[in-house]
Amino acid sequence: MFGFGARNIGIDLGTANTIVFSEGKGIVLREPSVVAKNTKTDEIVSVGSEARAMIGRTPASIVAIRPMKDGVIADYDTTVSMMKYYIDKSLEPHSRRPDVMVCVPSGVTEVEKRAVIDATKVAGAKDAYVIEEPFAAAIGAGLPVMDPTGSMVVDIGGGTTDVATISLGGIVSSRSIRMAGDKLDEAITAYVRQHYNLLIGERTAEQLKIDVASASVEAAKELDSQSVRGRDLISGLPQTVEIKPEDVAKAIQEVVQAIITAIKETLEETSPEIAADVIDHGIVLTGGGAQLRHLPEVISEATKVPVFVASEPLDCVAIGTGESLKNIDVMKK
Ligand code: ADP
Ligand code: MG
Repeated sequence: MFGFGARNIGIDLGTANTIVFSEGKGIVLREPSVVAKNTKTDEIVSVGSEARAMIGRTPASIVAIRPMKDGVIADYDTTVSMMKYYIDKSLEPHSRRPDVMVCVPSGVTEVEKRAVIDATKVAGAKDAYVIEEPFAAAIGAGLPVMDPTGSMVVDIGGGTTDVATISLGGIVSSRSIRMAGDKLDEAITAYVRQHYNLLIGERTAEQLKIDVASASVEAAKELDSQSVRGRDLISGLPQTVEIKPEDVAKAIQEVVQAIITAIKETLEETSPEIAADVIDHGIVLTGGGAQLRHLPEVISEATKVPVFVASEPLDCVAIGTGESLKNIDVMKK
């Protein structure tokens, strides 16, 4: 092959991370969904990890933007620039424009879906197609989505938690709530401000979550305190504070409960047969938020259903989106 064909690609355009799957190769790129721009010239300064490191640290002339919010495009032009950069980076030299499959959260509006398709084409796709995120997540998690048996997947990303039951190649019932990783970070930031008089940045809150957050307040008592740096609200000066994991767990309870409620509501909507299948096979968690400590146990206790975390939870949606490239020919008709 010499520059002729193009490998089609699948993109998990997430609120937190963008992952690109190249047909026949697998995952070729994983980067944060962040773009740094010069505020005066509008020029792009950096994209991905480098831009993410700038969050909360930019001078007045630079702004670090997360163009996706709550699972949908919040800043169209910046999303196009970011996708163009990632598509170009994923293609082999001199290859033709690829067909691109992009995932969208379940329950997005036609307008939001249209925006994703348009952005993907402007960013360099020959043609663009969308797949619903929980369906892609289920494929990527290895669930038997085409079988006449019910599966349940819960994808917890940065912006949204998508809950769905799937059977015979389709979504039977679903919920998408704007309660996921970012809300966990915000809840931690607010709690630390109120209870420790400490102002912490977005990146610090996320790190605190990854290091010590637990879905169970009880289980968090076993974890060691974590020292956290920020700005003291009273003195205005830099300050280091020891934070109890139990407090972090308390801070995020509301978000954890909202996720549980969405799961219960989705289960209530399913037929008795699918509910029975879910009891047999369990609920599978995907997305970065699936890695929150003790989350499977807490969900399982609340729903009385076994809960598992998929292997490589961060990659499931991208793998499923990539797998579904096989169906592009069918979708074209
Ligand atoms: P999206 O699909 O929205 O881009 P991802 O599935 O990539 O989101 O997950 C990103 C989210 O997962 C972020 O909010 C990040 O903080 C969170 N995350 C990553 N690792 C962990 C962890 N170990 N515990 C809890 N949350 C995590
Ligand atoms: Mg995602």
